Amino acid sequence: MSEAEVIDESGFVAGLAVAVHRLAQQEVPGKLVYDDVVQRVYNHFVLRTLPHDGYDTPDSVPAMIDLIADEPVRMWLPGSDSEAVLVHKDTRSPTQECAELIVGNRHDPIGEKLENEILGEVLDTCRALDAPESYEAFRRLLIENPTLTYAEHVTERARMELMPVVDLLDRCYETASARLRRDDHYAQCAWCGCLLRPIGQDEWRCDLDRCRARTTKVGRLIDSNTPGGVLHLRLPLRTFVTGPGLFELDLETKLHKRGLDVEMWPKFDTYDLLITFPDGARWAVDVKDYANPRVLGRKFAGIPSDPPWDRAFLVVPDYRRTGDKQYLEKFRTARESAGRPPLALRFVKKFLKDVDRRLSLPTEEGSDA
Ligand SMILES: [Zn+2]
Repeated sequence: MSEAEVIDESGFVAGLAVAVHRLAQQEVPGKLVYDDVVQRVYNHFVLRTLPHDGYDTPDSVPAMIDLIADEPVRMWLPGSDSEAVLVHKDTRSPTQECAELIVGNRHDPIGEKLENEILGEVLDTCRALDAPESYEAFRRLLIENPTLTYAEHVTERARMELMPVVDLLDRCYETASARLRRDDHYAQCAWCGCLLRPIGQDEWRCDLDRCRARTTKVGRLIDSNTPGGVLHLRLPLRTFVTGPGLFELDLETKLHKRGLDVEMWPKFDTYDLLITFPDGARWAVDVKDYANPRVLGRKFAGIPSDPPWDRAFLVVPDYRRTGDKQYLEKFRTARESAGRPPLALRFVKKFLKDVDRRLSLPTEEGSDA
């Protein structure tokens, strides 16, 4: 039996997703020497995707990326019915779905290794010092400031509440990639604050799905020669902390406007929001912005019962439903077949309607059922 045959489809696709990420982080585009993982994945790719239906075997790593760009797995992997797309065509950068295939949620041990290696240390440190305010400040910084000039970084580092975790903060950011520079400047996305990718002569594109779902809007332009340079949050943190985090903070604002008491990331991030109603009823919320509802359904273990709650919800941004009308159905089916307990999934607007109903207030204008 060949080596290619012993790895199942999901293992193979996850390996490919890792290779796509490694390539994206490589500073010199088109470099001919690839690390072992990329080379091994390419060899497997050639073995598994022998020419079929007009697809030629790619003769190089870049040709492999070209072949899978914007194409669902089922189009290039014989026997697969997966709709997952791993690479954006316009930027040749990994899709959010690609990251989801590598990283799970916080309850997933594999995910913890990648996404939470730093966040885990931050949690341990803050727990040991009993400093929930430090954890919250750290988390908010990663959400609200995925891009910092060196001078801004120095200012943030000096904040009192960040003192216990300042070394860990340094590890979350890296020098902005030269690939993201056009001429002598970087451009921040007006929607999320991450750095945009230049395309062609004058276009820019954000990596996050939440921003790709709307028209690109360029925010601040930063001179690449700014003293000390420009720092960018590491890619997995942008995908799994900044992306959903912006929805978490938006939800917090909307709940505060309703006069509700909201605790963010209670008990050192057991879940995302703990909402307390005037009569004392408590609702727990975890926000997830997954492109793939099946991956979410399979991987998400559930919402822990401490701090205790009366009702618990998994809340997903509305644009995911716009992009996939079957989102909820796919989530439920995947959960069932994975033997996971049922869990209430709500899109944001619907969730706020539930909140308003609970408060017996008129529902938000413009929301749909
Ligand atoms: Zn963006």
